[in-house]
Amino acid sequence: MKHISVLIKPASSLCNLRCTYCFYANVSSLREVRSFGKMKEDVMEKMIANIYADLEAGDHLTLAFQGGEPTMAGLSYFRKLTAYVAAQKSK
Ligand code: SF4
Repeated sequence: MKHISVLIKPASSLCNLRCTYCFYANVSSLREVRSFGKMKEDVMEKMIANIYADLEAGDHLTLAFQGGEPTMAGLSYFRKLTAYVAAQKSK
């Protein structure tokens, strides 16, 4: 039995709140591409399918979210993601 943990960053560096303790704006400003925006639905779908392709019965999966601020991806992102996960679990 495997335990797989995946850290998903669905909103790249879209956050502009600039909390004083946050390093993310500084780090992203040094990148060639500062932000890749919100994760597109086709990428989300492939990501979930690829994760489940490596799982077998009895394996344990943890999905966690980080940013920037992952809620910048919006409620619709998380609704679609949970729907894709539910579809994979029912296969
Ligand atoms: S990513 Fe999070 S910690 Fe950083 S500025 Fe945005 S809300 Fe604050």
